[in-house]
Parts: sequence; C-alpha cells; structure tokens
Amino acid sequence: MGLEAGLRSETPTVGGPVSVAAEDAARSAVHNSGSTAHACVSAAPMPAHLDPWECRLLDDPNLLGDIAFAIGGPFHVMYPPRVAHNIREFHAAFEKAAVRGVLYYGKKANKAACVTRSCAENGAGVDVSSADELRAALAHGVRGDELMVTGPAKADELLWLATRHGALIAVDDLGELGRLAALGSAAAPTRVLLRVLPAASASRFGMTSDEIDGALALLGESESIRLEGFSFHLSGYDAVARAELAGELITRCLHARTLGHPATTVSIGGGFGVDYVPADAAAEFTERVGRQWFHSGKSFDSYYPYHFPAPGAAMLARILHHDDLAGRLRDNAIRLAIEPGRALLAHAGCTVFRVQGSKTRHAHGQPYRLLTVDGSSLSLSEQWFDSEYLPDPMLWPTRPGTPTPTSVGAATCLDSDMLSWRRVPLPRAAELGDLLIYPNTAGYQMDSNESAFHELPIPPKVVLHDASGDHFRWTRDGS
Ligand SMILES: *Cc1c(COP(=O)(O)O)cnc(C)c1O
Repeated sequence: MGLEAGLRSETPTVGGPVSVAAEDAARSAVHNSGSTAHACVSAAPMPAHLDPWECRLLDDPNLLGDIAFAIGGPFHVMYPPRVAHNIREFHAAFEKAAVRGVLYYGKKANKAACVTRSCAENGAGVDVSSADELRAALAHGVRGDELMVTGPAKADELLWLATRHGALIAVDDLGELGRLAALGSAAAPTRVLLRVLPAASASRFGMTSDEIDGALALLGESESIRLEGFSFHLSGYDAVARAELAGELITRCLHARTLGHPATTVSIGGGFGVDYVPADAAAEFTERVGRQWFHSGKSFDSYYPYHFPAPGAAMLARILHHDDLAGRLRDNAIRLAIEPGRALLAHAGCTVFRVQGSKTRHAHGQPYRLLTVDGSSLSLSEQWFDSEYLPDPMLWPTRPGTPTPTSVGAATCLDSDMLSWRRVPLPRAAELGDLLIYPNTAGYQMDSNESAFHELPIPPKVVLHDASGDHFRWTRDGS
C-alpha cells in the first residue's frame, strides 16, 4: 500500500471516551490539593489528559513496578497503537476533505524504532534530516520513495543516499541544487521540492523569491532533477498562516508547470498542536503563576501552549477548510504533504523515574517535598527552551495520603538540573521507591537532549504490546 492510504476500516483501539479509575483518582487528588493549606506554595494542578492505555498501565498493580525493577533506572514507555491511531486521524481528515494527502513523520521528534515501524505499517512516510535518520527509517521498513529529506544545506552523504533511494528532497539552498545535479540521471531523476522562505519571516531556512527564480532557471536546464513542488515549515501553530502560505505555493506550482515542471506537491511542514491539559487548568495556571510556586523562587518567561483546542488532525481539517484550500488543491490536482512530528506522537508515550531521595523544605513558612529521582532533566527536554514541562507527573502506586507540594530534582550534581521546579500538587507525600510518571512525553521530551552526563545510563524505551484480555506485554524498543 502506498502513502496515500485512505481511511482504514479497523476499529481504533485507542482514543475512546473511557473513564478509568486512575484518571479519576488523579483528578480528584489534584483538585483536593489545590484548596486550602498549600494554596500559597503549591502550583495549580495541570492534570494531563490520559489515554485509555495510560490508565490501564497506571491501574495495573504490578506492571510499572516490574518494568522499573527489570530496567533498574529511568525509562520511557511507548504505545505504538496510539501512533497508528494518530496517523489514521490525519488520513481521515484528508479523506473527509477529498484531498490527496501524504504524511511524513518528522523523525527528529522521537528516535524510537517502533514509531518508524508504525509509520511503515500505517501508510505514513518519514521526514529525515541526517544520513543516520535516513538509514534508520529504511531499516525499519519505510521505503525510499516514502522518505522526505529536509534540513539546511545537507551533507553530501545524505544527498547521495536520498538520491539512490528515490526520496523527495526539500532543497533549502541554491548550492544544494548544483550538488544534486551531479547525482541524478535523466533515467532516474532526483525528486525535489523547493523550500520557500515566507515573505515576512526572518528564519534561516528556505529560499527568497529571487533564489526560487534562480532555482527555476537552474532546473530548466537540468534533466537529472525533477521539480515536484514547493514546501515550507513554520514555527508556531497558526492554521490560517499555513493555509494562506499553502495557497501561495499552489500559485508557485502553477507557474512552475508553465515552465514544464511536473510540480504536483505542496508540503506545509509540521507544527500541528497537541492538547496536553484541559482548558480550565491551563487558564488557571497562567492566571495565577508566580515565583511563590517554585523551588528557590525560580521563574520562567514563557511556557509551551499545553492546552491546544483543535490539535493534530482537527488542525489539519481547519487548514483545509480555510478559504476552501481543499477545493483549490483538488481543482489544480495538487497533493498536500504534511510533516507532523509532535502531533504524530500525541498521547503515545510517557516517562518514568524512580524516587531515590526526599527532603522536606520550607517556603513562606510552609513545608514541601524536594525529591531526587534517578535520572536527569535532559530526559525531559523542555529545559532546552529555558522552560518547564507543565503536565503534572503522577505518583505510582496510588495510595491515600496527604496532598503534598513537591519539586523534583535530578540525580546529578548540578543545582539547576530540576525536572519540576514548580511545586507539583501530588496527592500524597512521595516515598523512596515510588515511581513518578511524566505523561505524554513521546513528542520531543524523550530523546532530543539525551545525555550520558555523569555516566548515568540513557533511559531505554520500553514498548507496550496488547496481550490477551486487558494485559500488556513489553519489550525494549529495537532502535
Ligand atoms: C521539526 C520539523 C517538522 C516537525 O515539526 P513538529 O512541530 O514536530 O510537527 C516538520 N518539518 C520540518 C522541516 C521540521 O524541521
């Protein structure tokens, strides 16, 4: 089956409106703790939306403890059926708008082999930016012509491999075209998109209109390169900006066709939002946040938008609907490519640390817990952006207790290495050996920053598999 797979008929195994004890417990616990005694030093709760598989994992009396025992350090958990579900939702949005669509997973968001495998099995391609990413995608079943290659001026090795395997290359720089011309042949032309620098953008990526004209002139003389269309990738999560720029790229395709190029694809890159926490929690947090909530009076300038009302495929539907972009794509026989990274991994993984130390500290005359867990904040990469990962970690196992504001530090000798500076309103005091589960970490949090600092082990990824009944089996990811 090709990349343009339509809606599959099998019943989704995830994402249903299931209410499970773990989720209820997590919610009632954080609500209680937001109230009286610790209201001043305890951060407002940011309870994550939990997928049914996560509730099953948290409710299992043994599984998390068994995996933690076997691994002996922090680990990430992946649930590939949720990736498959996310892919199906994107395909369904294309299908509903009657648009030819193609999906390339932005591989930098998570290295796990099981994600690439899920793409291969569910009709999604992969967007790579290095020779090793390309090799890994091929190794886990993605075909060469299902690959997109993006990134600034690319290494010769990457361009050579991409050409050999028939990948679609998003050219970012005129010099790349010159190098590519030497690689393809008239019999097997190199497939390219031209990456456009949006008019008002100060990004270092993409080509200006003059550079695009120069590229079209160069391509007019080349028999070894085939221009298949244009691309962009925007930061932020604005559906309208993407729809409007896609409209401009359709016009560019039509112009390129007058010059004899096939130009049939517009790629709008990634940047599809993920909804981590409910609207009311995010609003309350933003309204009340202040230094009084944070260990050592820390503050951050900005936070990621953890509440996102129309995430993933719903955002794609909005883009397609805006100004009837879908109609324009259809009328001009153009296929729309998307490159979701984070959104493809929404609700597909979590990260588990073990509590190995617990101190009591005081702020504003009130006690709070300061934990040490067995890993580092580099396994929770929001720190890269000088910010904090706000969906609340959950304490396992669930037991009755007194709500306790809790900051979480890493097992390193850096004062600044904190997983949670804010005092998370945990439902009870954490004890040695408890597990702390950070939810929804598959997109970018797991391995973008992974580091063997202090010769601490890099957390392995554990893959959950559905077994008979409601049981999970688990393996180590094969990346
Ligand atoms: C990072 C990146 C993506 C993926 O972005 P997300 O925000 O994770 O969806 C897609 N395309 C390009 C060119 C990128 O650099």
